[in-house]
Amino acid sequence: MKEYKIRLEELSFFFGDFQALDQVSLEIRPREIFGLMGPAKSGKSTLLRVLNRMCDLIPEVRVTGRVWLDDEDILSPDCDVVNLRRRVGLVLSKPMPLPRSIRENLVLAPRLAGRERGKMEELVETSLKAAQLWEEVKDRLNDSALKLSGGQQQRLCLARTLAMEPEVILLDEPTSGLDPISTAKIEETLSQLKKHYTIILVSNNTKQIARATDRTAYLLMSRIIEIGDTARIFTIPKDKRTDDYISGRFG
Ligand code: ADP
Ligand code: MG
Repeated sequence: MKEYKIRLEELSFFFGDFQALDQVSLEIRPREIFGLMGPAKSGKSTLLRVLNRMCDLIPEVRVTGRVWLDDEDILSPDCDVVNLRRRVGLVLSKPMPLPRSIRENLVLAPRLAGRERGKMEELVETSLKAAQLWEEVKDRLNDSALKLSGGQQQRLCLARTLAMEPEVILLDEPTSGLDPISTAKIEETLSQLKKHYTIILVSNNTKQIARATDRTAYLLMSRIIEIGDTARIFTIPKDKRTDDYISGRFG
């Protein structure tokens, strides 16, 4: 087995003159849940956006260093960005289903990507099952997605990402607007998904990182402070700044 699925080598990222990531190096292993924690504005979302090249959409940005997905350099001009975004799916913090039916939310993007029409019903079922939403919605696939609860909408957004058959799933504070029960449901879903996918979970909730991830990096003011097994980071952090953050003394 390869040692890493994603490898960052001295990744730096600039918005104009402002440096949002400073020489970030880390490896994410295949089929782990990798937690990225840190206070607001430390660069967490920026890092995720580099990983599927969503950062390309922002003017006046500059990136240095390398990012490998398997053995492909995804920052290279040769990288097929459309294919990259299919392989590396992103779930945002605020669930934003399209104002269409549950079914259409799942099939629109695969259709545009040229997926076989005859496979669509199967795709709807498998992606909803993987996102642990199938039982709740199977009898109302034609209802508007906007009728679902917040937690259901977020699992639908996860299902929509899964319908593109990605290899990596990025989640940017996916439960920040959800109640504890919906949050637990998402965390349980992620622990099932890790059998097949590599997952990066960004959260500013240290308890969630401690519960739901295998390894963790602490990002503070654009820099990695510490990386390690989650259990170790939360019991014997090596850096005083990590200790301050996880024990709530930050700020
Ligand atoms: P986090 O997700 O950890 O809260 P972000 O990655 O969103 O942090 O932001 C990191 C820093 O980059 C912040 O200081 C933020 O203001 C800045 N930033 C984010 N997006 C932009 C942008 N489009 N233009 C300029 N600065 C930005
Ligand atoms: Mg963010």
